[in-house]
Amino acid sequence: MSERQFFGHVIDGKEVPSADGTTFEVWNPWTQEVWADAAEGAAEDADRAVASSRRAFDEGDWPRLGRAERAVAIHKLADLMEERSDELATLDTTNMGKPFAQSKHDVGRSVWNFRFFADHQRDHCGEVYPMDSGHHSYSEYGPAGVVAAISPWNFPLMMASWKIAPALAWGNTCIIKPSEDTPASVTMLGRLATEAGFPPGVLNVLNGHGRPAGSSLTADDRVDRVTFTGSSTTGKHVMASAAGHLAPVSLELGGKGANIIFEDADLDNAVHWAVEAIFRNSGQICLAGSRLYVAAAIYEEFMARFVAAAEALVIGDPFDPATKFSSLASRKHFEKVSSYVEGVGADGGKVLTGGVDEDGRWLVRPTIVADLPLTAPAYCDEIFGPVCVVNRFESEDEVVGLANDTRYGLNAMLFTENLSRAHRVASRLRAGTVWVNCFFIRDLRTPFGGVGDSGVGREGGNFSREFFTEPKAVVMQIQR
Ligand code: NAD
Repeated sequence: MSERQFFGHVIDGKEVPSADGTTFEVWNPWTQEVWADAAEGAAEDADRAVASSRRAFDEGDWPRLGRAERAVAIHKLADLMEERSDELATLDTTNMGKPFAQSKHDVGRSVWNFRFFADHQRDHCGEVYPMDSGHHSYSEYGPAGVVAAISPWNFPLMMASWKIAPALAWGNTCIIKPSEDTPASVTMLGRLATEAGFPPGVLNVLNGHGRPAGSSLTADDRVDRVTFTGSSTTGKHVMASAAGHLAPVSLELGGKGANIIFEDADLDNAVHWAVEAIFRNSGQICLAGSRLYVAAAIYEEFMARFVAAAEALVIGDPFDPATKFSSLASRKHFEKVSSYVEGVGADGGKVLTGGVDEDGRWLVRPTIVADLPLTAPAYCDEIFGPVCVVNRFESEDEVVGLANDTRYGLNAMLFTENLSRAHRVASRLRAGTVWVNCFFIRDLRTPFGGVGDSGVGREGGNFSREFFTEPKAVVMQIQR
C-alpha cells in the first residue's frame, strides 16, 4: 500500500470529492504515516447526500421492492464483502492499527450483520390479531425514510454495518458518516454497494469531521431517523440536534463495564476473558471490562495469573500474525489515554503492570491498576484504552453496589460456577448486556444498548425493526 490513496464521498452511486475540494489526512497509527486523504464534507456536501437519499426514498424503487427481492440485493452486497474481505480488513488495520486477524473477524461480523437483517426483515414483517368483535387487526412495518448514521473509529466497518444493514433491510435509504479517523473501509463499502447494483442514493457515504459533516446531517429536517454510535458527550449534541425536527434517535454510547470474579469462578476461563475484555482492540471497546472486581478469597491468585497473562500478550506490528496487541488508533487518542495513566500515581493508585510506552509509538501497554480511590478519574471515566482498574470485594451485595455505582450502564460480566448466583446477580446489574462466564458473543435478535450515559434505545432483531420503521395498525371488519 505504497501509493497515497483517496477516499471520496459516495453520493448517487459515484465517488466524488467535496464541493470545495477540501481534504483531510488519513493516518496509519502503527507507522505514524499519512497513507491516504479523504474528502472533507461540509454543509454543501451533506445537503447533496441528503437530497440524493431523499430522492431515492421518495421516487426510487428501494422502499417499494418486495422483501425477498431486497434480501437478495443485500445478500449480493454481503457476497462482495466476503470476496473482498482481505482488502476490507487491510483497510481497517492500516487505518486504526488493530491486529489483522481481528479486522478479518470484524469483516466477518459485518457480513453477518447484512445477512442477518436481510433475512430478518423478510421473516418478521408483521403480526395478525383476530378480534372477538369480528375484526382482524394487523401490524405493518413500513420504512421510516432517510436514515442518518454516524459511526466511530474503533470498529470502523462493523459499527457502520450494524446501522446500515437494518436501515436498508427495512427499506430506508441511508447516509453513513464514518469517523474522520477511519474513512477507508466504509468508503469501500459504498463502492461495493454501487458494484452490487444498489440504486443511486440508497447508500451514500459522507466523509468528514463531526462538525460540520455529522452535525449537518443530524440537523437536516429531511432526515427521518438518526442512529449514532460514539461518545456520550457527542451523543447529547446529536440528540439535541435531532430534536429540532423531532427525528427519533438511537444512541449507542460509552461504557465502563464491570467484570466480577467470584471466588467459585473457573479461574482459567475468568483470566482468559478478563484479558480479552480489556485488552482486545487495545481496550478501545465500548464494552470493555475496564473495572475488575475480584473476590478477596482469590484475589492474590487471580491477580498473579491476570498480570502474567497481560504481560504475555505479543505487542507489535498489526500485520504480523503473531501480534495480539498494538498501538492506539491516533495521536489524539494516545494523548488522552496516556494522561489517565500518568494521573494514576498522583491519585494514589499503583500500576501493577504496563504503562505508557516510551519509544515514541502511540502505544500504551496492557495496564493494570490497583488501589485507586473510587472517585479518581481513571476509575470513573471511560478511558477507552488498555487500562484495567482492579478492586477486591467481600460480599455479593458489596460488589453489586460497586458495579452499579457508575453513570454508565452498557454491559457487565460475571464469573461464577453457582447457577443461582449467576441469575441473581445478572438480574441486579444495571446494564444493557450481562455476560456470564463469557464475553462479546451475542445473538443479533437480542436487545443491544445501554442505560444512563451509555445510550438511548436498543438495536438488534425486532428492536431495530421498531426503530427503522413506522409501524402501522390496520383494523379490518371481517364479519358484518
Ligand atoms: P465521537 O463521539 O468522538 O465520534 C463519533 C462520531 O460522531 C464520529 O463519526 C464523529 O465525527 C461524529 N461527531 C462528532 N461530533 C459530532 C456532532 N456534533 N454531530 C454529529 N456527529 C458528530 O466518538 P469516537 O471517539 O469516534 O468513538 C469512541 C466512543 O464511541 C467511545 O465513547 C465508545 O464507548 C463509543 N462506542 C460505543 C459503542 C456502543 O455500541 N455503545 C460502540 C463503539 C464505540
